[in-house]
Amino acid sequence: MMQKGKFGKYGGVFVPELLIPAIEELEQAYYECINNKEFLEEYNEYLREFAGRPTGLYYAANLSEQLGCKIYLKREDMLHTGAHKINNTIGQGLLAKYMGKTKLIAETGAGQHGIATAVIGAKLGLDVKIYMGSKDVERQKLNVFRMELSGAEVVPVDIGSKTLKDSINEAFRDWVANLDTTHYLIGTTMGPHPYPSMVKFFQSVIGTEAREQILEIEGKLPDTVIACVGGGSNSMGIFSGFVDDEDVELIGVEAGGVSVETDENGATLTKGRDGILHGSLSIVLQDEEGQIQDTSSVSAGLDYPGVGPEHAYLKTSGRAKYVPITNDEALDAFQLLCQTEGIIPALESSHAVAYAVKYAKMPENKGKTIIVNLSGRGDKDMFTVAKELGVEI
Ligand SMILES: *Cc1c(COP(=O)(O)O)cnc(C)c1O
Repeated sequence: MMQKGKFGKYGGVFVPELLIPAIEELEQAYYECINNKEFLEEYNEYLREFAGRPTGLYYAANLSEQLGCKIYLKREDMLHTGAHKINNTIGQGLLAKYMGKTKLIAETGAGQHGIATAVIGAKLGLDVKIYMGSKDVERQKLNVFRMELSGAEVVPVDIGSKTLKDSINEAFRDWVANLDTTHYLIGTTMGPHPYPSMVKFFQSVIGTEAREQILEIEGKLPDTVIACVGGGSNSMGIFSGFVDDEDVELIGVEAGGVSVETDENGATLTKGRDGILHGSLSIVLQDEEGQIQDTSSVSAGLDYPGVGPEHAYLKTSGRAKYVPITNDEALDAFQLLCQTEGIIPALESSHAVAYAVKYAKMPENKGKTIIVNLSGRGDKDMFTVAKELGVEI
């Protein structure tokens, strides 16, 4: 059996002593809640009525015909605020209320997790403070405005590389200073225990639904499940539905940046080494001295130098495979899905689509049934895509 909060040797709790009581309080409340029928009913009601679940498992007929495989898309792009992140913010928002907290803090890179946190804060009557690197604040003005419209305070972080990893450090600092009133709502399957398990639990609805849906439509399990990996929450969510079915191949797709060969940055699981980042032991992008490296993907949501510890375990145990996709490959897949299916995917999700296309074209995979997790929609990426394609809008 695995030790609590450990995935093989990965995971654990690596935080300053001051945070231990808060982590323990959270852990206890989390286990109480997931064993509490009323809590789960309320969570499921919010998923249904506020977020818009269940999401469809959509047969992409045109793409399938073109590729000679059966491609199904799990439509997380149809959710409120445009991505899977709302599944987790609903769960942790309700948990914060259960603990009697009045404030949520969160980190955000591109702003998607910030928005999903801001809306649930508004809905549940909790104050929200979002830490965001000052570079990201500048790059993502529209998302900052969205958060502010829902009543959140956005705090620009002006230290370090002024991006996501520095905002996470600032959020931890705020949490230490305000433990009594505040819940730190982490947006992906990273951080100290119980976060990786908790975020996976709140995202496992994706895998539970997808498994039931494919069994109903096809009468059998898929051959392959493909999802993009940033911190790892949408992929853990869908993988969790199939991880015990050993014949189902699980593939995580990372951002390879401009070029997988020459780019120092990106593709954490492909190029990283064991290291401690943001409270747990996992695989981390770092230089020879152990300095954390910056990442540089077109998709801001995949721009994180770490990855959740359970992915490090799934990789080293061989249960899941991880592959990189470059910016250009993701942009091609983005356009392909727009043109064949009339669906505009998020750039993050386009990485998963891009690998599905590559995979389907391999002779040994002909005719396979593949589920691709479409983690979000591409509305937020219009300016980025236009710029990359040299189009003025
Ligand atoms: C944030 C985000 C991701 C990456 O985060 P994970 O925790 O790895 O899922 C992927 N897709 C979309 C649409 C996102 O917003």
